[in-house]
Amino acid sequence: LSSSRTLWELLDRRAGLTPDRPALLQDERVLSFGELRARAERAAAGLYGLGVRPGTVVAWQLPTRIETAVLSFALARLGAVQSPVIPFYRDREVGFALRESKAEFFAVPGLWRGFDHTAMARRLGAKGVLDAYGTLPDGDPAVLPPPPAEGTSVRWIYWTSGTTSDPKGVLHTDRSLIAGGSCLGHALRPTPADVGSIAFPYAHIGGPDYLVMVLLYGFPAVLFEQFALPGALAAHRAHGVTIAGGSTAFYAMFLAEQRRQPPGTRAVPSLRLLAGGGAPKPPELYHEVVREMGVQLTHGYGMTEVPMITMGDPDDTAENLATTEGRPPAGMEVRIVAGEIRLRGEAVCRGYLDPAQSAAAFDAEGFLRTGDLGHLTDSGHLVLTGRLKDVIIRKGENISAKEIEDLLHRHPAVAGAAVVGLPDPERGERVCAVVEQPAGAPELTLEEVASYLRAQGLSPHKLPERLEVVDALPRNDALRKVLKYRLRERFSPPG
Ligand code: ATP
Ligand code: MG
Repeated sequence: LSSSRTLWELLDRRAGLTPDRPALLQDERVLSFGELRARAERAAAGLYGLGVRPGTVVAWQLPTRIETAVLSFALARLGAVQSPVIPFYRDREVGFALRESKAEFFAVPGLWRGFDHTAMARRLGAKGVLDAYGTLPDGDPAVLPPPPAEGTSVRWIYWTSGTTSDPKGVLHTDRSLIAGGSCLGHALRPTPADVGSIAFPYAHIGGPDYLVMVLLYGFPAVLFEQFALPGALAAHRAHGVTIAGGSTAFYAMFLAEQRRQPPGTRAVPSLRLLAGGGAPKPPELYHEVVREMGVQLTHGYGMTEVPMITMGDPDDTAENLATTEGRPPAGMEVRIVAGEIRLRGEAVCRGYLDPAQSAAAFDAEGFLRTGDLGHLTDSGHLVLTGRLKDVIIRKGENISAKEIEDLLHRHPAVAGAAVVGLPDPERGERVCAVVEQPAGAPELTLEEVASYLRAQGLSPHKLPERLEVVDALPRNDALRKVLKYRLRERFSPPG
C-alpha cells in the first residue's frame, strides 16, 4: 500500500482490502474503512457542487473529529489544496493563514466551545465560509471527476508552530505525507490487532501522518476532540488502546495519572507503547515512564516540514531510547553541516509558500536546513542538542539553552524550565532561566539554582544570571511547546 500515489488511492486500496474493519473510533462511534471511503466520496460530491475543484485552496479550522477526517479525505478525493489551521487559533493566526494561503473556501465548526468561528470568519473577510458540521451537503459521487492521478503536486499547506517567528506555510504533497506515515509505521510496526490513539490535533501534521499509518496497517485509532485526562484515560481503557501517540507533555500527563493509581494497578492495562515526539524529552522522563507505567516509550524527531525524521525503535536499548531520537529510516538522508541537521528524502516538504523562504531553506544539493542542532553517534543514532536560534551567545561564547534546561529538569523543585538569552549591552546576551515549580515547593532563588547547576558540572560562564519563577510557561495549544519569544519579550528591558 505504501506505493500508493495519492492519499485517496491509499484509502481506496485499504477500504478494498478490509472494508469492515474499524478505522476511526470516537466516543461511542465507530467508522470502518469502507464507511470512511463512502462518506468521503459523498462529501466530495457535495463540495464539488459548491465549486471546489482540483487545485482549489480550502482552509479548515476544525477540531479532531471523525467528520474532520471525512472532510479531509473528501478534499483529497477532489485533489483540492487543503490548509489545516489549529482550532484554538484566533483572529491573528487565522487571518494570517487565510491571507497567505489565499483560501477560496474556509470550513469552520460554527459555534465551538463557546466561540463563534463563523463570526470570526466573517470578521476576517474569509471567502466561501462553510459550516462544516451543520450545512455541508452530501452529493452523488457519480458527478465527480476522476480522482487525482499523481501525488507529487502541492495539496497541503501546513503551518509551523511559530516558535521562532511568524508561522511559515509549508507545502506538502500526498507523496510526502505517505512517506512520513510509512516511516512512522516502520518504526512502530503496528499489527491489525493494535488499537491506536492520537492525542495531538488532526490539524497538526502529526494527525495525517498517524492516519496514513492507520491506512497502511489497517488498525483503528481513537480520536480526541480535546485531549484531557482523566477523561481521555477512560477512553483509552474502554477502547483497549495499545499504542498511544502524542507529544512530550502527554507522557508527563500519563505518568501523573499513573501515580494516582492504587499500587500494582496500571493506568491503562492494554497499553504497550507510548509513541510521540515533536518536543524535547528529558531522559529521566523516559526512565520514569517505562519503570512506573510498565510500557515501552519511543520518542521521535519531526517538524512540520518533515513529519517524521527519526523515531526510536521500541526494541532498542534503554540508553538509546532515553538519550537519542533513534536512527533515520531508509530513504531519509541526514547530514550535519556546521552542527546543523540537514535532510533530504521523500518525506521532506516541497518548500514554503513564500518563495524567498524556500530559496533560503534548501542548500545547493537540495537538503533542507532544519535550523536544529545535533549529531549522529557511532551507531547512527541522532542526538538533538538544540536549535540554531536557541543558542545564547554571551561574550562570544555559544551556550546551549537545552543543556541548561536538561539539568534544571532534574531538580526536584522544578516542574518545567526554559532558558533564553536576553539582550545585554556589554555581553551581547545573558542567560535567563525561567522555571515553573510544582505546587507547594519552596520558591527557588538564583543563588540556589546557580549552586545546583555548578554542582552538576555546568561551566561558570553558562550559569544563569537571572531567574524568573512563573506560574505557567507560555505554551502553544497544539503541542504544548514553550513559546520562547514570549519569554524574551516579557523579560527583556523595554525599548
Ligand atoms: P517555527 O518553525 O514556526 O519557529 P517550530 O519549528 O516550533 O516553529 P514545528 O514544525 O511544530 O514548529 O516544530 C518543529 C521543531 O520542533 C523542530 O525543528 C525541533 O526544533 C523541535 N522538535 C521536534 N521534535 C523534537 C524532539 N524530539 N526533541 C526536541 N525538539 C524537537
Ligand atoms: Mg521550525
